[in-house]
Amino acid sequence: MDKSIRDKYTVVIGLEVHAQLATSTKIYNSDATNFGNSPNTNISVITLGHPGTLPKLNKKVVEYAIKMGLACRSEISREMIFDRKNYFYPDLPKGYQITQDRTPICVGGKVWVSPRNGEEREIRLNRIHIEEDAGKSIHLPEETDTLVDFNRAGVPLIEIVTEPDLRSSDEAHSFLNEVRKLVKYLDICDGNMEEGSLRCDANISVMLKDAKEYGKKVEVKNMNSMRNLQHAIEHEIERQITALEAGEEILSETRTFDVATGTTSGMRTKEELNDYRYFPDPDLSPVHVSEEWLAQIEATMPALPRELYEAFIKDYDLPAYDAQILTDSKEIATYFQQLCKNTNNYKAASNWLMGPVKSVLNEQGINMIDFPLHPQQLAEIIELVDSNKVSHSAASQQLFPEMLKNNEDSALKLAEKLNLVQDSNENSIGLIIDEVIAENEKKVEEYRKGKKGLIGMFMGQVMNKSEGKADPQLANQLLREKLK
Ligand code: ADP
Ligand code: MG
Repeated sequence: MDKSIRDKYTVVIGLEVHAQLATSTKIYNSDATNFGNSPNTNISVITLGHPGTLPKLNKKVVEYAIKMGLACRSEISREMIFDRKNYFYPDLPKGYQITQDRTPICVGGKVWVSPRNGEEREIRLNRIHIEEDAGKSIHLPEETDTLVDFNRAGVPLIEIVTEPDLRSSDEAHSFLNEVRKLVKYLDICDGNMEEGSLRCDANISVMLKDAKEYGKKVEVKNMNSMRNLQHAIEHEIERQITALEAGEEILSETRTFDVATGTTSGMRTKEELNDYRYFPDPDLSPVHVSEEWLAQIEATMPALPRELYEAFIKDYDLPAYDAQILTDSKEIATYFQQLCKNTNNYKAASNWLMGPVKSVLNEQGINMIDFPLHPQQLAEIIELVDSNKVSHSAASQQLFPEMLKNNEDSALKLAEKLNLVQDSNENSIGLIIDEVIAENEKKVEEYRKGKKGLIGMFMGQVMNKSEGKADPQLANQLLREKLK
């Protein structure tokens, strides 16, 4: 699309993010919540909504939701009820979903976004509420009937609803990424988008730059990755602008994203919307969040990525870029903090984590938790480089990989074994240089007459004679002095 046309419009996006809470049992009964079990094994008469069964609220669900609210600086509701949202669907055995309509557990709140191409900004939340997941309809290619798996029915969710504050697909991407980080730091959701633990619907509209009112919004469902979210938004922006430019109206509708074509298509319009007839669920008592309970939950709050980000810049003098990357995961941030207890070279610690360590994690497909070296060991390597005992390249290309395989030895012992300890003794290097000078009388004369390029040849011989162990910086400096 022509940039000048696109620039006439402001994009408005609001997200609704569902996060599956990592409790071991369901929200209203004690069925397991494991992902990937055989269909219909984690079910009971309560999950199946048999007549006469009663739900009982899982306390952990409330605690996890409150943690998210605290992390987002939301107001925590002290009194709340649960509501029935009535609709028919084969994966919804009760004929209604128990959710929170009028008394969401968290009201308001904020989440920072830091988009790649844009400024850091706070995005306002409208609410966070608790609800149950539905089952899953399965359409197998060789099967004419639709199958239903109820394992997921009754798995606890929180739904995080933003105000229409996001202004680009980059910001939406960043928001989802921040939410993912938060739930993982809080240990309340595994954040796994492929398994559906984190899902996102996007409400998108466009309006002319000077318009006073938002345009009609379209809700796009069915996006199971950050990348799909971004593609769907980009596609929808272009589709809406093209329609408006052609004098057409935007329909308030729900659309679905097709991963294969990267396009969205209409599912249903607002006129066909269900009337859910919300009403308070008479089977569940109201929940009261007491002062003590809230204080207990507050006491379990870990340091959050944003706090660590700021602390890393301030306390360790790191560039914002480093701080951002290191706080991407709680495990890496914690490792970095431990590393900094063992070395004062914070920037080197950061470089090692962002470079060689991250490569190892990627190559081996492991998490920081499973990284074989103790922070103390990595600090030793940093110390060897800082004290010029091992060159940086020998450390990263030989010592570090060897240490990963053979981590019983101390870094110094292993460096000695591998013959990587460089000579930074002026006397011994001086003797080698004297030898080289004595063996090259003619060249030395030429050098002294102005052929300075010969320094490389002399250095080569010094390094050769030292079997590569002379500290190159020191050797170079001594050589220049002796050649004067
Ligand atoms: P609905 O009545 O359709 O459920 P809500 O007002 O409850 O709409 O908002 C649902 C989501 O849509 C929220 O995330 C909100 O921020 C977002 N939203 C509301 N209006 C717009 C708009 N004009 N453009 C984009 N997003 C919007
Ligand atoms: Mg709504």
